[in-house]
Amino acid sequence: MATGALGLGAAPAAASPRTERDRVRPATPSAALRELAAGNRRWRNFRQTHPHETAAVRAALTTGQHPFALVLGCIDSRVPPELVFDQGLGDLMTVRSAGEVLDEAVLGSVAFGVLELNIPLVMVLGHQSCGAVTAAVHAEETGEELPAHIQYIADRISPAIDHSQEGEARVDATIDRNVAMITGRLAREPDLAGRIATGKLAVVGARYELNSQLVHTVA
Ligand SMILES: [Zn+2]
Repeated sequence: MATGALGLGAAPAAASPRTERDRVRPATPSAALRELAAGNRRWRNFRQTHPHETAAVRAALTTGQHPFALVLGCIDSRVPPELVFDQGLGDLMTVRSAGEVLDEAVLGSVAFGVLELNIPLVMVLGHQSCGAVTAAVHAEETGEELPAHIQYIADRISPAIDHSQEGEARVDATIDRNVAMITGRLAREPDLAGRIATGKLAVVGARYELNSQLVHTVA
């Protein structure tokens, strides 16, 4: 399952610019990943800087936006991307659906960020104790039908269910497999694949641990 902490440790935390003018937007996939890692380190060490919230930043952003990463995450109230990566206004484009499930609107939203705003990094962010994944696993195990639109979510997660595991371990492994499945699907989208091939874009899978507040990449 999980691998290293976003390749973090190495990167020194960048100083947070105080105004929009000072902001240095990470322009490459690796720079974007480093900034997310630095922000997550601040978050889990209770050293948030709450960047990019000043009046000057708000004013500067009225004329445009240049977010450096797109996070496709779950709707879970415990995993808001701007908080767990200590980012501010204009930094992240966030797309959220239960279990990070893809549909046409989600795909279109991701494509908008990448193709229209030239975002260099897409992160698919799953998390520990995901209720959507738990529901999908439970529904398959019991054969119970969920309410219609929730069953739609469960049906999208279902191909990721890890039948080599049982009980809690099955849910936990399925969380990772679901992230990997979605990451793979996005990376194969022709418009995104072209950018990945030229190094302009990376699509990475990651997972947030409620226990430690660490975000780490998922293979
Ligand atoms: Zn969830």
